[in-house]
Amino acid sequence: MAKPTPRPTPTEQPFYDACARGELVLQHCQNCGHVLFYPRTHCDACQSDQLAWKTASGAGTIASYTVVRRGVSADFEAPYIIALIDLAEGPRMMSQIIDSDSEALAVGLSVKVGFAAWSEDITLPVFRLHPALDAEDA
Ligand SMILES: [Zn+2]
Repeated sequence: MAKPTPRPTPTEQPFYDACARGELVLQHCQNCGHVLFYPRTHCDACQSDQLAWKTASGAGTIASYTVVRRGVSADFEAPYIIALIDLAEGPRMMSQIIDSDSEALAVGLSVKVGFAAWSEDITLPVFRLHPALDAEDA
């Protein structure tokens, strides 16, 4: 089984284009200010189609995570960490936490976005622990 690869729709393409240049972008509703993820044609708070892409801070906190110890196929090298990240701008994003010992993870810890090639055409956001952000809060 080959590794499943996103095939961006025209609505999603700006998100993937930004990832490819190392930038995390989110849609902001020009009508109500809501910040959206995943990419949509209309605001999921007020249904406006007046959405604008803006660069996100890349900062977030771990809302939940799991350590996958057995990959779903040989294309997924286990163990790896799948996490729900609460982005500083509001939306929750499912992603991967890399370069971290699973023992060091905890709900509420700060993370910062990075980018990793998923395939020839697709780059995806990934996250790393960012202790300096936790220190700022303390
Ligand atoms: Zn809205």
